[in-house]
Amino acid sequence: MYRPINHGYIEAVIGPMYSGKSEELIRRLKRAKIAKQNVVVFKPKIDDRYSKEDVVSHSGESIDAIPINKANEIYDYIDNKVQVVGIDEVQFFDEEVVSVAVDLANKGIRVIAAGLDMDFKGEPFGPTPKLLAIAEFVDKIQAVCSVCGQPATRSQRLINGEPARYNDPIIQVGAVESYEARCRKCHVVYK
Ligand code: ADP
Ligand code: ZN
Repeated sequence: MYRPINHGYIEAVIGPMYSGKSEELIRRLKRAKIAKQNVVVFKPKIDDRYSKEDVVSHSGESIDAIPINKANEIYDYIDNKVQVVGIDEVQFFDEEVVSVAVDLANKGIRVIAAGLDMDFKGEPFGPTPKLLAIAEFVDKIQAVCSVCGQPATRSQRLINGEPARYNDPIIQVGAVESYEARCRKCHVVYK
């Protein structure tokens, strides 16, 4: 894969849940470390799925990460030695993550951002659309549809095993919430 060597740039890795975004982010960052590059990784504090200090994929791969609340906290960890910045779950950050990514790339840093392109409704998620527009490289990857086995592009939200409704609140007390990867045909959002 061609990558510039004389300036910074932005790579985006996007897709639904279980598509391997974290896996791919970790793969790229580990290769950068093998190349003796100075790498720093960030994730939003809200995501403590498996570990508070690591980015962890569903398949168990992991890499050290710094949990932050707001995108501009990234600057607290950037000095002139940093060459690569990884950001996981980028959809959960504020819009400022886009200008931070641009600024870092302008400073000569390779920025790799991974996150959901769509929410459970199938609508563009947070800052991801803008990030895609300004990134040099975008990889949109698919999971496997848990209903039919075709490539899955969407995240199905289930509440007590049933497809969630469009207006269902994000946090429901006492309800069991889960997600699975689905294709366009099998993805269900009741209005
Ligand atoms: P993401 O960050 O996109 O949520 P991860 O990188 O954490 O994805 O996990 C990807 C891994 O999840 C796959 O390599 C596979 O082992 C596992 N997996 C579980 N369910 C599925 C599915 N429906 N489609 C694809 N991979 C799945
Ligand atoms: Zn399907």
